[in-house]
Amino acid sequence: MNVQGQVHTTASGTTEHFDVLIAGAGISGVGAAYHLTTQCPGTSFVALETQKTFGGTWSTHRYPGIRSDSDLHTFGYRFKPWTSAPIASAAEILKYMGEVIEENDLSRHIRYQHTITAAKWSSEQNLWTIEATRGDTGETVRFTTNFFWMCQGYYRHTEGYTPEWKDMARFKGPIVHPQKWPDDLDYNNKRIVVIGSGATAATLIPALAKDCAHVTMLQRSPTYFRTGRNAIEIAEQLRLLQVDEKWIHEITRRKILFDQDAFTRKTFEEPEAAKKDLLSAVEAYLGKDYDIATHFTPKYRPWRQRIAFIPDGDLFQGIKSGKASVVTDEIDRFTEKGILLKSGRELEADIIITATGFNLSANGDIEFAVDGKPLDFADTVTYRGMMFTGVPNLVWVFGYFRASWTLRVDLVADFVCKLLNHMKQTGARKVTPALRPEDHNMPLLPWIDPENFNPGYMMRGMHLLPKRGDKPEWQHNQDYWAEKDEFPAIDMNDHVFVYG
Ligand SMILES: Cc1cc2nc3c(=O)[nH]c(=O)nc-3n(C[C@H](O)[C@H](O)[C@H](O)COP(=O)(O)OP(=O)(O)OC[C@H]3O[C@@H](n4cnc5c(N)ncnc54)[C@H](O)[C@@H]3O)c2cc1C
Repeated sequence: MNVQGQVHTTASGTTEHFDVLIAGAGISGVGAAYHLTTQCPGTSFVALETQKTFGGTWSTHRYPGIRSDSDLHTFGYRFKPWTSAPIASAAEILKYMGEVIEENDLSRHIRYQHTITAAKWSSEQNLWTIEATRGDTGETVRFTTNFFWMCQGYYRHTEGYTPEWKDMARFKGPIVHPQKWPDDLDYNNKRIVVIGSGATAATLIPALAKDCAHVTMLQRSPTYFRTGRNAIEIAEQLRLLQVDEKWIHEITRRKILFDQDAFTRKTFEEPEAAKKDLLSAVEAYLGKDYDIATHFTPKYRPWRQRIAFIPDGDLFQGIKSGKASVVTDEIDRFTEKGILLKSGRELEADIIITATGFNLSANGDIEFAVDGKPLDFADTVTYRGMMFTGVPNLVWVFGYFRASWTLRVDLVADFVCKLLNHMKQTGARKVTPALRPEDHNMPLLPWIDPENFNPGYMMRGMHLLPKRGDKPEWQHNQDYWAEKDEFPAIDMNDHVFVYG
């Protein structure tokens, strides 16, 4: 395996060359590195990562209780069995990723504290020139690569999204965004208000409830949750039968994916029945007298936003115990003592937590150019949510929202490796997706149909994202069940791929 890039020294400095350069060492970047070593042996590659360690999301977020909201049989890679309870803490996920790195000798390919700042394609050389800033020395380092594999996720890691509310500065206590959790935040016996109702709020609240005086989830509108035991029955049964873990992983994944597909279809075909299923599970924890209509019944159809899984109903148990409560109202302004709501009620707090989401970052804040022209991804059309018209030798991993992100990491990796091997065999040095004659009158639509999926950070950042067409080739349809068959069948000689 060729690990070292070739080093070229010229008057303008030193440049290292790799066949493939990966941006990021989160679950996507580490997956990409694994698949390159196994499916494209002999390919030289490097992964550049801003942070001091691998893990991405799971090392950035350090708030109490941080855990997955989907199961690890499918959030884990298809090639490494997950052998513990399905909903896992960040620490468990990092341990699993660390094992993948160690077992496959991937650390020699990863360079930490390297932030990619610029990526410039030259058609003359058929190369990307990548510039990165080293976090330890501040030095700018330069690479060239034939193929750029963007695994930088979808949001800015340096800061979360906090809306501007009136008089925030008047509040006397700390205002904390979960993405920047201070290690020394003392919340013992404190009154806390968590603004938000998504997966982060639902994870934080039961964790905080253990030690604080009281925690209030303040939401403008409710969210759907799924709840149940933190276990997968079929995995437990197979384990009792002493079935090999590899088989358990595969069978459990198939069962989970089959059930998820059936549920997703139900949300489209029988939305009222799907809604009833979700709400009756909440009622089973909170009882008939709890105001589920106000606090847990969203106005939208299930699955228009991600549905977090609440293991063992811990959020609802916190509410039932009286240590946590939910207020559904709007913020008028902050006060010295807390938050004044539009209803006129004041919520007093010692600490306010803004679990209000992310800042979308479509391109890792990298300055892109193609042949000297600045590249705006919003001017491109996406090929299956991973390549872009007019942008050569580049793939972006954007996972699933309704299913685990990582399912798409594996699928995209199979595609990239097949494409790289095809180019090697045919001697092609460049591949650029292009609209075919039959695609030219196709309507160009936003990246995601808001009627289908519409979380806040996507809506706020949609104008930055590539366009989508109305044919399967030109969209990210968020449908693993379809893509698991469509991706392996992609014809590398399809006219969407223009080779050079
Ligand atoms: C708290 C939380 C819980 C979640 N739970 C789930 C879940 O249970 N299931 C699920 O499917 N999804 C979940 N998600 C979504 C989650 O982000 C993805 O599933 C997944 O972790 C994304 O992995 P990634 O490697 O693509 O991106 P990230 O995890 O975002 O990692 C990207 C990496 O790239 C690095 N990077 C970015 N830009 C640059 C640059 N310019 N130069 C160098 N490095 C760069 C970053 O530092 C980071 O380490 C969750 C998200 C959050 C925030």
